[in-house]
Amino acid sequence: MNTHPSDSKEEILVQLRGEVKAAMSRWVQAGKSLNCWREPLVAVASARDPLFEELKRVVDPGHAMPNDLLSGARSVVVFFLPFQRGIGEENSRSKGFSSRSWAESYVVTNSLIQAVGESLQTDIARHGYETVVTPPTHNFDEEKLVSAWSHKHIAYIAGLGTFGHHHMLITTAGCCGRLGSLVTTMPIAATPRPDKEYCLVKSGKECYGCVSKCRYGALFKSHFDRHACYRQCLVNDSHFGDLPLTDVCGKCACDVACSYEIPTC
Ligand code: SF4
Ligand code: SF4
Repeated sequence: MNTHPSDSKEEILVQLRGEVKAAMSRWVQAGKSLNCWREPLVAVASARDPLFEELKRVVDPGHAMPNDLLSGARSVVVFFLPFQRGIGEENSRSKGFSSRSWAESYVVTNSLIQAVGESLQTDIARHGYETVVTPPTHNFDEEKLVSAWSHKHIAYIAGLGTFGHHHMLITTAGCCGRLGSLVTTMPIAATPRPDKEYCLVKSGKECYGCVSKCRYGALFKSHFDRHACYRQCLVNDSHFGDLPLTDVCGKCACDVACSYEIPTC
């Protein structure tokens, strides 16, 4: 990356996105896994965005601020690695448990997120700025089931998408994929947030496709039971006992209107 603070917002975003893509290519070329992903998305929030303070109310009083992770933080970079459609389709088809490819994609994407973050960190360091790469997952309170650094809420602040009825973030590439983020002292212009709700129900239209996909007593038209959801994630983890931690489900995000794009009706 050859970024300079005077570069236009578009130029810096293109460069960041190029770095993420390059890290993904190196990963696949090194034979670390098959290519499970579509084109990545990247967005940036100002570390001083007042919405960060709101996370203490909306997520948890213990939610970290960018400056808690890195003194002098100026920007938060968030990236979304969308899964190939086939992975979502297979998870949708598999009965009861998540599909094996969904579980394996989760595991390998966690490792890739770490690699992408470290690659960006190295690149930003060349320009004299510090970066802290946040862990891809499992930084949450297992009783309250809330995260001390919620990637999806950070991604919302950065303008990567809007929340769906299923409580996942819907991006321009849908919700089927995984998020990573890092905090840096590098000043980068923030990307704007969408000016409309992407979720059909939240925009006053009919859908609830995600509710129909949840057979585990977790997601309803009226509410979301995060404890029931996590129980099902742990069922899948036991089912895939030969894999590292796979506390995932994702059925409500697979093969619904918002899985791979902004939904339309
Ligand atoms: S499936 Fe429909 S209701 Fe559910 S989050 Fe997606 S767009 Fe919203
Ligand atoms: S992830 Fe699974 S258990 Fe949780 S709401 Fe979606 S379908 Fe239901």
